[in-house]
Amino acid sequence: MSQQVIAIDGPAASGKSTIAALLAAKLRIPYINTGNMYRAITMYALDSGIDLETKCTNEVFAPLLDTLKLDYIQTASGDYELQVNGILPGLKLRSPEVAAFVSPVATLSFVRDWLKDLQRDSAKPGLIVMEGRDIGTVIFPDAAFKFFLTATPEERARRRLAQDGETFDGATLESVARDIAERDRIDSSRAIAPLKPAADAEIVDTTQMTINEVIDYLARRVNNECS
Ligand code: C5P
Repeated sequence: MSQQVIAIDGPAASGKSTIAALLAAKLRIPYINTGNMYRAITMYALDSGIDLETKCTNEVFAPLLDTLKLDYIQTASGDYELQVNGILPGLKLRSPEVAAFVSPVATLSFVRDWLKDLQRDSAKPGLIVMEGRDIGTVIFPDAAFKFFLTATPEERARRRLAQDGETFDGATLESVARDIAERDRIDSSRAIAPLKPAADAEIVDTTQMTINEVIDYLARRVNNECS
């Protein structure tokens, strides 16, 4: 039997997080943003004083993760948010400092294995939306729905620049495009669970679509199959 998961994968700044959150709200089901889990681990390492330029290794992360607890909780507003050791970090997860190190951290086998169990456990209560890079390929290869969202690199850089607090001061379209391209390069070329569409995923190019058009399209696809 297929897993009751709507898997949404895609490259950096493709609009996945916004769309996945709104789709889940529209369908009234939980939403897990796995990128935020990798960001939380990266933030925790930086806050613990680890120099990730020189110490991004399994040996450093194994003891660190013993003291970390991640939980998705539903807040009073109905949104699903990630708690890091009992605290909601909010926009700190989206800071450019965290973004600069998250892809190297996500190449580590210890980190990926640790999160794989947590992500699979999150799927127990029924249909959910889970969003990331490897949901349709590795975490839930038997997901009921698999979408791979893309947009041109120019459009993705424009979208990222428009998001408050997610880029360094003085960032330009060119510098943002470079940072995104570097994350895509690391994410696509890593040995474990590289970013790529699952063979049976539907690729949705959102370059010319509004957020609402993408959400309506995905909700229609899901509802048609479920009814
Ligand atoms: O989706 P977001 O841009 O927040 O993800 C941050 C980073 O976390 C990605 O660039 C990637 O390195 C890593 N990631 C991953 N696998 C996932 C989700 C995110 O490797 N399932």
